[in-house]
Amino acid sequence: EVLSDQIAAGEVIERPASIVKELVENALDAHSRQVDIIVSQSGLDSIRIIDDGDGILADDVPIAFKRHATSKISSREDLFKVQSLGFRGEALPSIASVADVVMTTSTGEGAGTKFQIKGGQLISNQPAQARRGTDITVTDLFFNTPARLKYLKSPQTELTQITDIVDRLALANPAVAISFMHNDREILRTPGNGNLQEVVAAIYGISNARKMIEFKGEDADFSIDGYTSLPEITRSSRQYISILINHRYIRNYQLTKALIQGYGSKLMVGRYPISVLNINLDPVLVDVNVHPAKREVRISKEEQLSQLIAATISKRIAQENL
Ligand code: ADP
Ligand code: MG
Repeated sequence: EVLSDQIAAGEVIERPASIVKELVENALDAHSRQVDIIVSQSGLDSIRIIDDGDGILADDVPIAFKRHATSKISSREDLFKVQSLGFRGEALPSIASVADVVMTTSTGEGAGTKFQIKGGQLISNQPAQARRGTDITVTDLFFNTPARLKYLKSPQTELTQITDIVDRLALANPAVAISFMHNDREILRTPGNGNLQEVVAAIYGISNARKMIEFKGEDADFSIDGYTSLPEITRSSRQYISILINHRYIRNYQLTKALIQGYGSKLMVGRYPISVLNINLDPVLVDVNVHPAKREVRISKEEQLSQLIAATISKRIAQENL
């Protein structure tokens, strides 16, 4: 069982950023209002996530660390229908198979639980005083899979990957206060008041509201809202364009291209806007023929959606005479 968890870990847990992603998604699934992410040495030393969410009942903690015990879907078609971000029941067992994990959790009623597992082996499981929520710390990452350790990039690159994941999760969840500390330095803190523009400001340092255009578009199949920067506020990479489908961050080349095309000649060659687009659609329109972990998603009626995106931004630019 430990071996199959390690194999699963190879797919789910590639690097420290994957751990941050899975643990923060768990905190979000648990209805947290506040999530604190504390990382040291790009996650190679430790990754700690503290949330104020639902917590886990004492009896359920060992189950949460068992593979597939919690799978919520039976087919990939269900992926965009489930409300929760987690669905495979694979993250905790995978992480625990390649690291040392200590979790303190409480539902706020009765005693909480302190649970430690390392390399898939239970170290301890005991009642503990704790406030409502979950506090999980991961250390000794890849201690038993040295090949994985070697595969990691420089600490700077690993930190960038973590920051990127945290940024996307914060953009997708403006109603949750998210903080990210690295080596005692604050990298991000969002207010958690539901205001997407303030999250954009916290991440990209664009504090002047006039630098971002509100983006609102709708047709029979899609409704889009979000923010995109003025043509003169650009970056040299597409990576500052975030596209969310039903609150999940995805990658899609066509849609990104449509957004850029919508700016027309206003955008200098090689320059890209800073954008966050929330696209809401019926999950049946999501083409599931792409591996979900890769986040590459295709959409039926993609051409129609592309046109809606391009038309919305070009209309806004014309309206505002930007
Ligand atoms: P999944 O998220 O796919 O269900 P995970 O392995 O990530 O699988 O988590 C297993 C289960 O543990 C979750 O379904 C959830 O019930 C519970 N869990 C994990 N993290 C938390 C958390 N921070 N707060 C509350 N419950 C959690
Ligand atoms: Mg999960």
